[in-house]
Amino acid sequence: MNSNFCLSVNGIEVSVIRKPIKNLHLSVMPPNGWVRVTAPDKMKDEVIKALLAVKLRWIKKQQAKFECQERQTEREYVAGESHYFLGKRYRLEVIFKDAKPSVFLRGNNKIILQVRHESSKSVRQEVMYNWYREELFLYAGEVIAEWEGKIGVKAEFFGIKRMRTRWGSCNHEKRRIWLNLELAKKPVNCIEYVIVHELIHIITKKHDNEFFSLMDKYLPNWKSMKEELNRFMLSDEKWSKYD
Ligand SMILES: [Zn+2]
Repeated sequence: MNSNFCLSVNGIEVSVIRKPIKNLHLSVMPPNGWVRVTAPDKMKDEVIKALLAVKLRWIKKQQAKFECQERQTEREYVAGESHYFLGKRYRLEVIFKDAKPSVFLRGNNKIILQVRHESSKSVRQEVMYNWYREELFLYAGEVIAEWEGKIGVKAEFFGIKRMRTRWGSCNHEKRRIWLNLELAKKPVNCIEYVIVHELIHIITKKHDNEFFSLMDKYLPNWKSMKEELNRFMLSDEKWSKYD
């Protein structure tokens, strides 16, 4: 029996600390949802594992709560913060350099923000959001082109902007689509859902039977994508649900 060790239960890493106690204590720690167990020093590893397996749902629920809180806290654009891009979490690194500001990804999990010396928080934020806008524009452009072909419609225009209450909008008559800039942080299947939703509004303006039967036809699992999108209620501001 190890004294302090790490074990993995259904993909969740758990730190186990042994102490001369009677019962097992389980905690999920902020801010990252790290799982810690204090176990009686004589309890067998298998028993600890079995007890943890029973608590798996609870652990996941706590972790989701922390993730949600983390996503909703206001960003300072300083090193070490988590930032999301296409549904993936990245660690922010800030480089100060007297050159044109830029943002780029490095390796698997780093997002590098390069700004001039003494750039204020609002400047850093603007640089980040410009990057998000460009990236989302490129990504969404491809997805829109692909789905225009599949559905057989053509949007006259699409653009990216900050919107307080919607993930996307479509002007049915003018065939103009706007996408919420915050989508750049969301998983790609969520972005796809919003794009298909708005493209179908070119065919039918309302959420009528035709609309839902087209959604079912083109994206049979659209409901779970919508749920995923609405699960974490956006970033710094208060938002209402998407449709
Ligand atoms: Zn709609």
